[in-house]
Amino acid sequence: MSQGYAKYVIWVVCMTLWVTICFIAPDFIDNPMDSVQSVLTIGAYLCALGIASLWIVYLTGLNKYISDICVPILGIGGAVVSYYRVAFHATITPMIIDATLHTNGGTIAGVISWQLIGWIALHIVIAVGFCVWRHRIASPSHVWLHALGGIALLLIYYHANGRLQSSINQRYPYNIVHNFAEYHKQQIQLNSERTTIPYEVKALPDSIDVVFVLGEAARADHLQLNGYARETTPLLAARKNIVSFPHIYSEPTYTSTSVPIILSPADSLHPAYSGSHTSFITTMKECGFRSAWLSNQDNGRTYVSFIHEADTIIFPNASKSVFVFDPWYDEQLLPPLDSLMACSQARNLYVLHTIGSHWYYNLHVPEEHILFTPVTTERVITNNTNEQIVNSYDNTILYMDIIVDSLIQRLENRCAILFYLSDHGEALGEDGTYLHAAENEALHYPACFVWYSDAYARQYPKKIEALKSNKGKRYRTDFLYHSILYSVGIETESEGQTNIFTTDSLYAR
Ligand SMILES: [Zn+2]
Repeated sequence: MSQGYAKYVIWVVCMTLWVTICFIAPDFIDNPMDSVQSVLTIGAYLCALGIASLWIVYLTGLNKYISDICVPILGIGGAVVSYYRVAFHATITPMIIDATLHTNGGTIAGVISWQLIGWIALHIVIAVGFCVWRHRIASPSHVWLHALGGIALLLIYYHANGRLQSSINQRYPYNIVHNFAEYHKQQIQLNSERTTIPYEVKALPDSIDVVFVLGEAARADHLQLNGYARETTPLLAARKNIVSFPHIYSEPTYTSTSVPIILSPADSLHPAYSGSHTSFITTMKECGFRSAWLSNQDNGRTYVSFIHEADTIIFPNASKSVFVFDPWYDEQLLPPLDSLMACSQARNLYVLHTIGSHWYYNLHVPEEHILFTPVTTERVITNNTNEQIVNSYDNTILYMDIIVDSLIQRLENRCAILFYLSDHGEALGEDGTYLHAAENEALHYPACFVWYSDAYARQYPKKIEALKSNKGKRYRTDFLYHSILYSVGIETESEGQTNIFTTDSLYAR
């Protein structure tokens, strides 16, 4: 290595350390770490993310005039992102980009502070220092070869491992590009043409509340309702008018692929319908329902168009990302729901997309509701004992029990029906598999149950009779679309559909 090139490499390494320590590491400040092993694992992970930023630094520094522009931009952008991460626990998400682009100047001014200005000013000074330093170093010879080599190494590194790539996409500076691109793709989805499958209105009630709780990673066999030995659903188990379905099969094992099948008329005969058809929200709106989507998750590209079918969309935690370890709770969906219910119309549909049993489990259960102990203490899941993992997981089911029970309290004196269906299950160490988005039997059986009010049962006695007699049957998650419509007297015309409110349903797995 020539002496000039060695100086350039030192400059690149120092720049990378600045970006990694000041702009990437803040994502990890609140990670649970209880052992040296965990600290080392997360340290290695941070290094891997730092190397991803090294290729960007390497390329932008090759020409000192380009670096005069790029380095200050890198510093200012990083200062803004890291400030909001630390001060407000906020990360860049497509929802935050959407909210920022559609907000007024006053709101933006409200989140600017002297601390932010000071933090940006500090990094402008550091960036100018790096630019001056760069001007004192000769550029590498054969700069185009270095540029091509740098691009090749960046692409190889970025595509080398799927999991690392997902994480790189959520870290500075890649998160800016990735989330704006994601936002753009969502806008394209929103503008795509969709059709509604034909339906017939048979016995629409004069007034009704329909609640659909879309769960997250809740597995059927960890519900006390389904015979689980632990009391994980004591409130629901004490209620009447609940019918649980322990044999619902979800073919997909992660959110972005399973949710479209649940919401749309897509099924095994019509898998493409999730990309070409509207969800039950549009059909219900056409039948006089006022609709709302309240979400504690993101607006994933595969289901963003279904979300936007709703009259009202609320994201109480729009700046939270599952890639960052931050507490947020499903009870935060309840105040906005109450506001909507206070001015409800005759027919209402509320969809609640919960964070439910998503890892890191403890962060989605308020401390006062943690019953099963000891809980997990480590971000690296395999550094916890199986007992800790199952305890933490079961606490999320217990908390779901509290949330759904409180929803039922709001509905029990009205004509109302509530559906709970998780998007998929969760692996808790079976065959060495954890979490979801993998292949394991435990991932295919999501929790599912239906609650109905007495007034609903009086209005639709035959539907309730069929619901009870179908309890032990096996359905795929595509039953939801047709069943939710049928529950309010809307019958769809689609060959091969399944429906839990009639006894002549098909129920092949
Ligand atoms: Zn999921």
